[in-house]
Amino acid sequence: MSVFKTDILILGSGIAGLTIAIKTALALPEKKVFVVTKAEESESNTKYAQGGVAAVWDKLDSFEDHIRDTMIAGDDLSNIEVVKMVVEEAPDCMQQLIKWGADFDQNALGILDLGKEGGHSTNRILHHKDITGLEIEKTLLEQVETLSNITLLPFHFAIDLITDHHLDQKNISNNVACYGAYILNQKTNKIDTYLANSIVLATGGAGQVYAATTNPNIATGDGIAMAYRAKARIIDMEFVQFHPTALYQPGESPAFLISEAVRGFGAYLRNKKGERFMLEVDERAELAPRDIVARAIDSQLIKYGDQHVYLDCTHLEMDAFIAHFPNIFEKCKSLGIDIASQYIPVLPAAHYLMGGIVVNKKGYTSIANLFACGECSRTGLHGANRLASNSLLEALVYGSKIALEIINNRKDLSFNKDVKIPEWDEEGTTVPKEKVLISHNRKTIQNIMTDLVAIVRSKERLVKALDHLDYLYMDTEKAYANSKLSPQICELRNLNAIAYLIVKQSMLRKENKGAFYSLDNILND
Ligand SMILES: Cc1cc2nc3c(=O)[nH]c(=O)nc-3n(C[C@H](O)[C@H](O)[C@H](O)COP(=O)(O)OP(=O)(O)OC[C@H]3O[C@@H](n4cnc5c(N)ncnc54)[C@H](O)[C@@H]3O)c2cc1C
Repeated sequence: MSVFKTDILILGSGIAGLTIAIKTALALPEKKVFVVTKAEESESNTKYAQGGVAAVWDKLDSFEDHIRDTMIAGDDLSNIEVVKMVVEEAPDCMQQLIKWGADFDQNALGILDLGKEGGHSTNRILHHKDITGLEIEKTLLEQVETLSNITLLPFHFAIDLITDHHLDQKNISNNVACYGAYILNQKTNKIDTYLANSIVLATGGAGQVYAATTNPNIATGDGIAMAYRAKARIIDMEFVQFHPTALYQPGESPAFLISEAVRGFGAYLRNKKGERFMLEVDERAELAPRDIVARAIDSQLIKYGDQHVYLDCTHLEMDAFIAHFPNIFEKCKSLGIDIASQYIPVLPAAHYLMGGIVVNKKGYTSIANLFACGECSRTGLHGANRLASNSLLEALVYGSKIALEIINNRKDLSFNKDVKIPEWDEEGTTVPKEKVLISHNRKTIQNIMTDLVAIVRSKERLVKALDHLDYLYMDTEKAYANSKLSPQICELRNLNAIAYLIVKQSMLRKENKGAFYSLDNILND
């Protein structure tokens, strides 16, 4: 077991973590920045983002319109001050990304080609074909490579934050501080202690808590679970966004996303009878906010007992479609779906978590020295439902804010003079003989959440889910206490915590708002 000291410790190498790393490393060349990440450095939700980033770019667009669209999507639960701040800082953040080398599509006149997505009143999505996230992740990693004071640590799994709760202190005050994290080096299998003055959780979302999700395997809510165990404030976990149109491919996880931008481009949703059912549901039809479209699909599936509905692109101009969505076109083709003549089978899948670790407008959590950024944080931007393409933007804006705070308020590594940080203790633990128990419990959580805590909820289903989760919690905690730790057992424990938070906070919400919809609240609506 080793102890490493750094100035800034960032957990996660998606858009949030890398933005902060680059900005702090550039401004503080004499300071060390460590970026710890549990898989290879590019693996993240960021890498899979398709549609793009929302920003007011066109003269015909306005901050007021972007603010209004965000508030409407958030069902008026967004924090207006936060919405204003993010929307108004968006163009500068995008300029910065372009300066770092990100290539966004342009039209024949050399003007940025802005896409349109559900809930947006105009075209304002900057994109790189249908692989915007990959372009951004690549750009950020290239910048990181040029900065010698950033150390990138792939295959390092953060297990838990080190806070006052770990210190040998009788009376822990209300002002709990974070000192670093215990990190499992997946190559040496050793759990090392990392200490820093500023610690940032940028660990992304938790889509893997559901069986059908667009999120990659790394999205297990680790940062939120760590913060929860450290007693940070966590709210809005009941608001889970289901993307209406994941490709229907039974047994395939994560589900391949058919971007909202495809509906923005003019695609229709049809049920098995060929009917455009969204026309009956909302005047915005296929471009209504995601919660409305996802619920409409869910009710079609329940009504007809079907497994999926269809996305119809057959009437669209195919050359233009292929130029915009080459990745989607190729994926469908590889499965034998000819988009020009056949409908694409689609269904809703868990996609984005609006809730998370509460942060203020500067990115501070309720724990001293600890920031949270990106999908693991809850800034107040998204309210009850995220407006499409506002999440990469949120990570960029808050990434800049947090970097500024760290740069302006830096302290020296003085805490370790006064406090004694214990090393990780794994005495009495053994390697589990049967890993199948871990994978079985992970699947069980995903099935419980998909069957009982998905798009439409009810008190009865939530109570049943909680019963199952209580049993799994005891089983998992026993295994965790006795096992040599692995990423698998830690992820299972974290998924259990995330599922519990979603269920418990769903039980508390008495009004249907945005992405949250309970049958018991219909009378209150
Ligand atoms: C298919 C898909 C399409 C999307 N399309 C769009 C879009 O068009 N526009 C938009 O705005 N948003 C989109 N989103 C959402 C957006 O991609 C995410 O919200 C955003 O990328 C989150 O960035 P992040 O940096 O917070 O987290 P991530 O990019 O997920 O990065 C999290 C990082 O933390 C690491 N990590 C996690 N746990 C640990 C641990 N215990 N120890 C160490 N490291 C850890 C991960 O390995 C990863 O590096 C999409 C999401 C998906 C899945």
